[in-house]
Amino acid sequence: MKKALITGVTGQDGAYLAELLLKKNYKVIGLVRGQSNNFKGLEYLGIQKEIEVVECDLMDISQIIQILKLHNPNEIYNLAAQSSVYQSFNQPIGTFQFNTLSVFNIIEAIKITNRDIKFYQASSSEMFGRVENLPITESSIIHPVSPYAISKVAAHYTCVNYREISDMYISCGILFNHESYLRGNNFFVKKVIHETLEISLKKKKNLRVGNIDLKRDFGYAPKYVEAMYLMLQQEKASDYIICSGQSISLREIIYYVFEKLNISKDLCIIDIDLYRPTDIEDIYGNNEKAKKELSWDYNYTFFEVLDILIEEEIRNFK
Ligand code: NAP
Repeated sequence: MKKALITGVTGQDGAYLAELLLKKNYKVIGLVRGQSNNFKGLEYLGIQKEIEVVECDLMDISQIIQILKLHNPNEIYNLAAQSSVYQSFNQPIGTFQFNTLSVFNIIEAIKITNRDIKFYQASSSEMFGRVENLPITESSIIHPVSPYAISKVAAHYTCVNYREISDMYISCGILFNHESYLRGNNFFVKKVIHETLEISLKKKKNLRVGNIDLKRDFGYAPKYVEAMYLMLQQEKASDYIICSGQSISLREIIYYVFEKLNISKDLCIIDIDLYRPTDIEDIYGNNEKAKKELSWDYNYTFFEVLDILIEEEIRNFK
């Protein structure tokens, strides 16, 4: 039986990836931070008892080495991160420290314990930031515009560098935004659906949002974690853009959700305080490499994803 270790198993992607790997008969070890009691995602998917949860401070390499010696996984999926762009402007140093040093620590721990372990790093489309040419491909110019993106660039090139100078198997998934019912309430799509439902139930008066004329390439998280798994099943490690290939404006998303739940557009309030200091106007990617080399398929429009998410939110609304 293959063993996979997932950091950030309590997050959106961690939970869906754990579910996928269990279906593929892996033993799954989920690393959580000391104070974590956030098992809602794993409980929601009904898999909390099927994975082995291990506490680990990813800033402490000796703890990681101990865990690798004890469990000797075949694959490590590194999904733990301070993942909010918005938060990263409030906590730039903490975001950079954790999102980069944790990656160094895990890779060095692999180097010390067992170089045959395959490593996946969660890189991000935010790395491209100030976009010059669309669509984004694996060789587009990197120009981060937030502390989060800067941390992801540093982590990404740490991975690329170790891959180039050693025989270690290190692949980076450069994922564009992907959503699900398990997304945190502070992320745009989840916030829009959850709060619009609250408005329709008279629990809230309006939806306050920042700049909604931005466009993003959004996808469906349970499909995107399939690409993570596929990346570690290849003969050679590499980097892959994972995206839908199309962008949609935040305004279009809000109006679609409002229409579905019979809410007037007047209840969408633009709040300048929610604007970010810098932001990307429009971004979408090209997923041809992943489709060709990984045989990863993706055929959802984002309106189809929104239909799934709205229905799931209504079903589970408390
Ligand atoms: P998420 O839901 O925010 O989950 C983040 C995970 O990281 C949680 O398990 C969280 O643990 C853990 N974490 C955060 N800070 C930590 C710390 N200091 N020590 C240990 N664990 C910590 O993120 P996601 O959406 O699943 O994303 C997974 C990865 O993909 C992240 O690296 C993210 O940056 C990257 N990514 C995401 C997207 C996207 O659209 N979702 C796109 C591109 C890249 P707690 O539960 O204890 O807080």
